[in-house]
Amino acid sequence: MARDNDCLFCKIVAGEIPSTVVRDGERTFAFRDVNPQAPVHVLVVPKDHHPNAEAIATEDPALAAELLRESAEVAKGEGIAESGYRIVLNTGSGAGQTVWHVHAHVLGGRPMHWPPG
Ligand code: 5GP
Ligand code: ZN
Repeated sequence: MARDNDCLFCKIVAGEIPSTVVRDGERTFAFRDVNPQAPVHVLVVPKDHHPNAEAIATEDPALAAELLRESAEVAKGEGIAESGYRIVLNTGSGAGQTVWHVHAHVLGGRPMHWPPG
């Protein structure tokens, strides 16, 4: 689906809700998370609406790959590629997904221990 009129991230992509833009690509958009969990916390989304990772990987695998490439470009641009960063795709409410438009969290700028806590 190109756009879901009830979707927060579709509105952010369209500029109808303001965001702090990090990268504005042809098919992807990257902006700062409003509630950052690390010194660098950027969300990378496809401009087309896909609800989660499985949907985008099935419906538009090239776009899924672009989401990962753009996440890496964000990390380079933010200066965290060398120190290491985490790409997170929360999937399902039990995993913390709250927005049903697939988004890659790019997190870094501090030691990113795993498991968290
Ligand atoms: P999820 O919990 O679905 O994996 O991630 C949703 C993320 O979107 C959260 O980290 C939350 O802070 C962020 N978020 C929610 N509403 C907004 C908003 O209006 N603007 C921005 N920039 N981030 C938002
Ligand atoms: Zn959407």
